Amino acid sequence: MKILKFGGTSVGSAERIKSLLDIVNPAERQIVVLSAVAGTTNALVEISKAIINGKQDDAKQLIEDHKNKYEALIKELFSTENGYKRGKELIDYHFNLISSLSNDLFTHTEEKVTLAQGELISTTLWHLYLEEIGISSVLLPALDFMKIDEDNEPVVPFIKEKLETILAQHPTNKLFITQGFICRNSFGEIDNLRRGGSDYTASLIGAAIQADEVQIWTDIDGMHNNDPRIVKNTSPIAELSFNEAAELAYFGAKILHPQSVFPAQKYNVPVRLLNTMDPQAKGTLISEHGGKKGSIRAIAAKDDITAIQIHSSRMLLAYGFLRKIFEIFERYKTPIDMITTSEVAVSLTIDDTTNLQDIIREVEDFGTVDVDRNHTIICVVGDFGVNTHGYAARVLDAVKHLPIRMISYGGSDNNVSLLIEAEHKIEALRSLHNRLF
Ligand code: ADP
Ligand code: ASP
Ligand code: MG
Repeated sequence: MKILKFGGTSVGSAERIKSLLDIVNPAERQIVVLSAVAGTTNALVEISKAIINGKQDDAKQLIEDHKNKYEALIKELFSTENGYKRGKELIDYHFNLISSLSNDLFTHTEEKVTLAQGELISTTLWHLYLEEIGISSVLLPALDFMKIDEDNEPVVPFIKEKLETILAQHPTNKLFITQGFICRNSFGEIDNLRRGGSDYTASLIGAAIQADEVQIWTDIDGMHNNDPRIVKNTSPIAELSFNEAAELAYFGAKILHPQSVFPAQKYNVPVRLLNTMDPQAKGTLISEHGGKKGSIRAIAAKDDITAIQIHSSRMLLAYGFLRKIFEIFERYKTPIDMITTSEVAVSLTIDDTTNLQDIIREVEDFGTVDVDRNHTIICVVGDFGVNTHGYAARVLDAVKHLPIRMISYGGSDNNVSLLIEAEHKIEALRSLHNRLF
């Protein structure tokens, strides 16, 4: 069985929703994961912000504007009166729900319910459209099987058991549709897998049911060797290993949700990145084997990084020092991305600064602490095993005109990372691109 995920632009208009059938063959048994219509989740974030800030009138206006967009979309999507009527009931139901949430106490719980509406709408719209044109499909509510625990980690055994039970109830059905992004948390509340999370949904489903392949259909022909929004003349990479793809996704390649490679990797399910606008294009295949060995593959950048340097003479010849430091970050559930050490100091980076003040207060027990916000990690991914040479020098040579705060090499065979001030990001990406490719 294959899992096909379509992102926001791939379902971004009535025409695009209709064209899904150019790619999806309803006669094959498969699960199709849909994102919200492009722009919807952003709009729902805006609406939530307005409500939280007490700007009820702004929220009302935003809700109305967005509802109007959907009214136009359903007019184009459905060709029968009954189809349109059902589409209209759907839109009314969801937008009434959003409005009613905005009238009451609006906490993070209501915010997450609001954010979930986009995927609930897009999947049901497609299901209704298919019904209108006589194609049978089964809508699988993601909220029945997609679950995260108290650490926001997906509970794969639960997802597997639930999904298998549901699929077994439909032995002859072929086309299953479900929502990306949304899930339930450990309290049973509606939650989500963070922005861009539909990729993660697809990969989790692929892992849970041991799919033959996960296909991520988006608006570009695969993983490019640099950020195409910033650098000209980037090109798609035909094959990547799971490790290379995971590093790129984690370090900022927006085409994939940061965590989405791990479930597929763990259960060895190949992932293909494909272009909805150009379905014949080869795209990128992410698998155990990966592509060309011994080469630089791609560059990505992760923004909003905070660097923390801890200076302490107690580190000198001591053991157990790093453990004590790491324990503090662990207690505050704050992941560390990069780390470099010397005999008297350790520098590390984080991107989640929710608990930064508490962390610094505790770390100060061990030495002097310097904090620098507004940094970017530039990550160069490739095959840099022990038998290769010269790559690190080429990377550093390409950015020798820029100040570098940290360098990380050798953590894995796949990555050289640099920490720079955010203002140098564009220049670093362009210069690396020109010199490495
Ligand atoms: P979707 O809505 O389908 O999930 P996204 O916007 O999340 O699509 O991801 C696709 C976008 O990712 C592309 O349009 C591109 O601008 C951006 N992107 C950033 N880095 C890369 C990269 N290295 N390769 C390909 N696309 C990238
Ligand atoms: N709709 C969600 C978002 O915009 C999830 C996704 O598109 O992957 O973040
Ligand atoms: Mg995305």
